Amino acid sequence: MSSIFTKIINREIPAVIVYEDELCISFRDIDPKAPQHILLVPKKEIKSLAEATEEDAPLLGHLLVKAAEIARDQGFSDSGYRVVINTNKDGGQAVYHIHLHILGGRQMEWPPG
Ligand code: AMP
Repeated sequence: MSSIFTKIINREIPAVIVYEDELCISFRDIDPKAPQHILLVPKKEIKSLAEATEEDAPLLGHLLVKAAEIARDQGFSDSGYRVVINTNKDGGQAVYHIHLHILGGRQMEWPPG
């Protein structure tokens, strides 16, 4: 069964898309945890970071570079942001299709909850 994010990629469910290329799609989180909360998802359905392999290294690098580009394009790069990959249960992962959270627009705290 395809993930909820693949349904967004396939335009089966709506999303506010901010970026797309042949490898990934980026859209606004439906339940934002910061003034800026954008998800960046590879079109390849890797379940979690824990399942990524060496073969995925170029794709994961692409995602990081695009995350920085999206933050710049959306105007919150200079003020700063956080990129998060929740992984498996203790990491707080809810959707098992690997994704980067790009969070900005407010001061982030450390350590995370
Ligand atoms: P995670 O807990 O890291 O798996 O994050 C999953 C994220 O996906 C959460 O922040 C959700 O709010 C978000 N989310 C779930 N469904 C949708 C959707 N249909 N459109 C946009 N964001 C979604």
